[in-house]
Amino acid sequence: MTVTRFAPSPTGTLHVGNVRTALHNWLLAKRSSGRFLLRIDDTDQARSREEYVEAIRADLAWLGLHPDGEERQSARLAIYEQAFDKLCAAGRVYRCYETAQELDLKRKVALGRGLPPVYDRAALALTEADHAARAAAGEAPHWRFLLDHAEPIVWVDGVRGVQKFDAAQLSDPVVRRADGSWLYMLPSVIDDVDMGVTDVLRGEDHVSNTAVQIQMFTALDAAPPRFSHEALLVGSEGKLSKRLGSLGCDHFREAGIEPQALVALLARLGTSLPVEPIADRDVLAASFDLATFGRAPARFDEDELGRINAALLHALPYAEVADRLPAGMDEGAWVAIRPNLERLADVESWWAVIKGPISAPAITAEDRAYLGEAARVIEATGTDWQALTSALKETTGRKGKVLFLPLRQALTGMDHGPDMPSLLPLIGAAEARARLENAATG
Ligand code: GLU
Repeated sequence: MTVTRFAPSPTGTLHVGNVRTALHNWLLAKRSSGRFLLRIDDTDQARSREEYVEAIRADLAWLGLHPDGEERQSARLAIYEQAFDKLCAAGRVYRCYETAQELDLKRKVALGRGLPPVYDRAALALTEADHAARAAAGEAPHWRFLLDHAEPIVWVDGVRGVQKFDAAQLSDPVVRRADGSWLYMLPSVIDDVDMGVTDVLRGEDHVSNTAVQIQMFTALDAAPPRFSHEALLVGSEGKLSKRLGSLGCDHFREAGIEPQALVALLARLGTSLPVEPIADRDVLAASFDLATFGRAPARFDEDELGRINAALLHALPYAEVADRLPAGMDEGAWVAIRPNLERLADVESWWAVIKGPISAPAITAEDRAYLGEAARVIEATGTDWQALTSALKETTGRKGKVLFLPLRQALTGMDHGPDMPSLLPLIGAAEARARLENAATG
């Protein structure tokens, strides 16, 4: 069974790039009736905050990406300790004491010599007596994972194809700080093993982490999961934008974007599949395929999101939206109004047009007489728009715009809007007549 996970660090709220990663993991799991897990990566106690954990859960709920399980790293420290002991016993982690400044200097020296800025493993030369002396002086070590330079690192990435790394070109990663706290790299691998994660799908900024983590899986006697790294999301101008990094669900909610619009767009952005206003998540899941992902950055365009949002609203069934509509608004009214909506909130103003009172339209003297005639005719035709306009065409000789527009203006106070044949019955015959009379008398 496919098991995926979304693993945000609760050091801030989700931005659109995170939402995309979460969605893709959800789709990948759902495509094959698998499990989608939420893993809260909160080993960084100083920067993690409970309010962000709650905001992440709330955003996923709003998006309808319900996790099949939730774990948090801060509750799993004993498990990391056990795995770490195993790595210690196997000689795959080692103690180091270099300060950040010393490491920085080493990097500069290496670069100055035209060498890759890889950690030189000086600490491997320390003896037990050296360590004892450091400990006696009150100095605690941080720990690095010992990469196996003899083992070539190769994987077939779900998006990028065959990936090869030479371990000797990578620094042994620091996995544990001197205060005993964990860096992201190792706990993530321990969790992926423990939670049976079969597919790790994340941004391409993690590609070199994967190289290192593959060796960690092996060191823990576990088979690595399938890895896939998707190209990053960029703004419509084609650049990694700051704005994108701060666009989150709150922003979209406030802009009147339906979660389903965001889901439909992000599901296919950056793939060779067409971005379409698809409301059915099963359809999105069934067509989700990593092989369709391109290597080029995916461009996120808020205008495109707005268009998808409108298209979804235009097809949204009454039953799915009834509890968010103004009181008293029935299916007929919804069906009449929805083709005019860009955002659901706009329904209020159209409903106000139906219910009245409407703002007085500017009517020319010539049209007043015409509207007076309409007020008389409507007594016979009632709310049958076709009958009303046919009768007026005959009695006044008007046609086209001069026939229709003054009626719309008198009846709605506006030049455009929902289809009049469906709108007129919603306004009702008596109210419509009163509006026509009102416009006729100015
Ligand atoms: N907490 C990590 C991040 O947010 C998780 C990366 C991963 O998916 O392994 O970047």
